[in-house]
Amino acid sequence: MHKAVRVMVKPKAEKKFKRGYPLLSKEDIEQVSVLKEEGQLIELTTKTGAYLGTGYYGKQNKGIGWILTQNRDEKINQAFFERKIGVALTARQELYASSETTAFRVFNAEGDGIGGLTIDYYDGYYVVSWYSEGVYQYHAEVYEALQNLTDYKGIYQKKRFNTGGKYVDEDDFVVGERGEFPLLVLENGVRFAVYLNDGAMVGVFLDQREVRKTIRDKYSEGKSVLNLFSYTGAFSVYAALGGAIHTTSVDLANRSLAKTIEQFSVNDVDYEAQDIIVEDVFKYFKYAKRKDKQFDVVVLDPPSFARSKKFTFSAAKDYSNLLQEAIDITAEKGTIVASTNSAAFDMNKFKSFVHQAFQAQNTKYHIEQEFSLPVDFKVSSTFKEGNYLKVLFIKKGV
Ligand code: SAH
Repeated sequence: MHKAVRVMVKPKAEKKFKRGYPLLSKEDIEQVSVLKEEGQLIELTTKTGAYLGTGYYGKQNKGIGWILTQNRDEKINQAFFERKIGVALTARQELYASSETTAFRVFNAEGDGIGGLTIDYYDGYYVVSWYSEGVYQYHAEVYEALQNLTDYKGIYQKKRFNTGGKYVDEDDFVVGERGEFPLLVLENGVRFAVYLNDGAMVGVFLDQREVRKTIRDKYSEGKSVLNLFSYTGAFSVYAALGGAIHTTSVDLANRSLAKTIEQFSVNDVDYEAQDIIVEDVFKYFKYAKRKDKQFDVVVLDPPSFARSKKFTFSAAKDYSNLLQEAIDITAEKGTIVASTNSAAFDMNKFKSFVHQAFQAQNTKYHIEQEFSLPVDFKVSSTFKEGNYLKVLFIKKGV
């Protein structure tokens, strides 16, 4: 293991690190130039040399590293990684024990004590995501920990540290036995076909588990459901299984058609009775308005940023406008499920976007339910902004 380099923080940053804030930014420290090799350990001190914490150097979109401990005597070694991962695994025992759910997150970065590292579980297989070259320097320790603590069938990895935090496209298999894909996993009794070695995304976003269940159990029976930015159609599948009379899924990506057909099929839903549309959502709004379409439930789950041929979308700037379009094609007393994973604003700000949109449309509304990350996506009490997911179930009308 590397020897820690001493780094002094600027006086105005001392307080937050004393309180346990885990993310290190280049603005926090006096001399960025001492940080050379990604993965190198950092001992953070005040200007007068008082110990603040130990962390590692690793450049991500956010920050240049993460604090791992505030205990000077705690060594960052094999035992450290094993301890952190062991605690995280124990905290997910209920999910491991469930026969209805076989896919969930087992390690959520700084929420479980190691920023830049996440581990997901898919029915015996583990997918480890590395968010910087720095944290990847510890891959041997992490794989050894999984070897010692779990009975994995196999491990896959996603390196998310190409320029701009992009995924490094390569064979993602690490160790164990190779899976056969699609691998069928379960979530609340619903099947998902996942591909662990097919690019950055596996086919399902695990953080929406509770939202999907709520849509199926409380918002689908007898309803027409429009799923916008639908990807593999996970929300549509849940809606159909919950008794929706019809679902419409809209996504711009060509892959979404075959993927959505597959997710319906593995759940024995007749996909031919559903609409799966490959199109720009903003174009679809125009079409739907021309045809006077109205849906009982509209699910809106856009990416934080997107650029299509004609439109650019930024959740922080354009969510309110997106909602206005959705309000137009939602039936009176219908529900909009508005979701965002943008870390650029918090729940209060998100609610203000909702308020703006309904006000601009001169329409009454009330928020029936709200969701953020589920328990397996553990959030650090000293890094609340790690709770990026915000979902509101909004009833249109009074
Ligand atoms: N709701 C999905 C996840 C959405 S991910 C789920 O629950 O699984 C965001 C999706 O938005 C991607 O599949 C992307 O192809 C799609 N997308 C981005 N811009 C779009 C646009 N302008 N119109 C339609 N789809 C878009």
